[in-house]
Amino acid sequence: WSKTYDVIVVGSGGAGLSAAVAAAQNKASTVVIEKMDIIGGNTRITGGAFNAVDPVEQEKKGIKDSVELHAEQTLKAGDYRGNPELVKEFTKRAPEALQWLKDCGVVFLPGVYQVYGGLHPRAHSSNKPFGLGYIEALENKCKELNVPILLNTKVVRLIREGNLTGRVIGVEVLTKRGKTQFLRAVKGIVIASGGFSANPQARALHDPRLYDLPTTNHKGATGDLISPAQDIGAEVVGMDYIQLLPGGATTGRFIGMVSPVESVIFVNKNGDRFVAEDNRRDVIADAILGSPTKVVFGIRDADGYAAMNKGATKAFNGAFEIGDAVKADTLDELAAKLQIPAENLKKAVDTYNKAVDEKKDPFGRNPKMLIHKIEKGPFYAGRLTMAAHHTMGGLAINPRAQVMDRHGKPIPGLYAAGEVTGGVHGTNRVGGNAVAEIFTIGKIAGENASKD
Ligand code: ADP
Repeated sequence: WSKTYDVIVVGSGGAGLSAAVAAAQNKASTVVIEKMDIIGGNTRITGGAFNAVDPVEQEKKGIKDSVELHAEQTLKAGDYRGNPELVKEFTKRAPEALQWLKDCGVVFLPGVYQVYGGLHPRAHSSNKPFGLGYIEALENKCKELNVPILLNTKVVRLIREGNLTGRVIGVEVLTKRGKTQFLRAVKGIVIASGGFSANPQARALHDPRLYDLPTTNHKGATGDLISPAQDIGAEVVGMDYIQLLPGGATTGRFIGMVSPVESVIFVNKNGDRFVAEDNRRDVIADAILGSPTKVVFGIRDADGYAAMNKGATKAFNGAFEIGDAVKADTLDELAAKLQIPAENLKKAVDTYNKAVDEKKDPFGRNPKMLIHKIEKGPFYAGRLTMAAHHTMGGLAINPRAQVMDRHGKPIPGLYAAGEVTGGVHGTNRVGGNAVAEIFTIGKIAGENASKD
């Protein structure tokens, strides 16, 4: 062994840093191993919304909430494919994790709000953009607690004693210079290496439609630790459940267009509408992936463009340069620029406008979403495709964050937290639950690993 620690944490995103800080607070000698040259992973670039029941802030606004409601909404939104025990633990302990983050120096903005896809006003945001508020505070805490973070160091193998029956005792790493080293963990190893949205082969293994899609993730989200964990007996759950978001066709990045829903329609390359735009995210994703080119067009008129919020407008305006945003005075001209049949586009818009008049849509849009006709030029189009956003499946864990083996038993000495795990979100993740989950379960994993 090159070096021995009590606890080794793989990955420096939200789950990894919280596990490391929690372990070090329990006096365990702890190290964080990170393959990239920067800490933070996807957590650095997330929207940052943290769902947790918060009686003090919620009561100020007259919002009723409970841990039971948070759990029930999480399970229902995931079509009851989440693990109820895990969801119960996560929702119960999210408020405690929120307070702990405050104690670690994360500054939260006052109040709560409902984030997109969040189902209830229980989201909290830090005072810094994206996930930076969390990462910076926990990085400082690591420094204070003497937890080294080894950058450019990649974990390639987990080492387990005995014939898949003993403890997990260490990891094999590849250093920046390509040197192999073995690091020993006396108490436990926490896998917090994130999801696999940036790995086309792994995506396609579980959902063949997703091979050639872009991703919203950082490039290190390649799911490296899944196979090494399986090699030593770990079980995985829900690997097929991959959440997609509509983004610009060229980069997959957010270009607005999709909200507010009441003033947009989608057409495919034939200029035809194909889905109720107010449907569930996964239903729309399936419809877009089923369209002839997997690229569709969001169409807005001048008032619909003006209805987009500031961030969406900024993103949309930024997409003109790369051709993902298009503007024209007439629908004929717009169709020509998009290279789609003008007659069909005009017919799609006419039929939709008629549906607004009659409050009845052939695609089943809710009458409440039939209030805005597309009639006032200039007209705007966004070229949209689906981008891989969040892999909801991963290593099976129990509520103590222990990794489970294929026989349903915890693997001694091995813990996991964050997007690398499965079982919390089921088929469909609620907005604001990922950030809450990584810190809540990350903390649980670090605490338990340090006591092992
Ligand atoms: P989470 O949200 O679950 O914390 P993140 O994506 O934020 O996940 O963080 C995961 C981190 O793990 C990333 O910084 C990523 O680069 C790192 N990572 C992934 N694979 C490895 C590996 N094989 N060795 C070391 N670090 C890894």
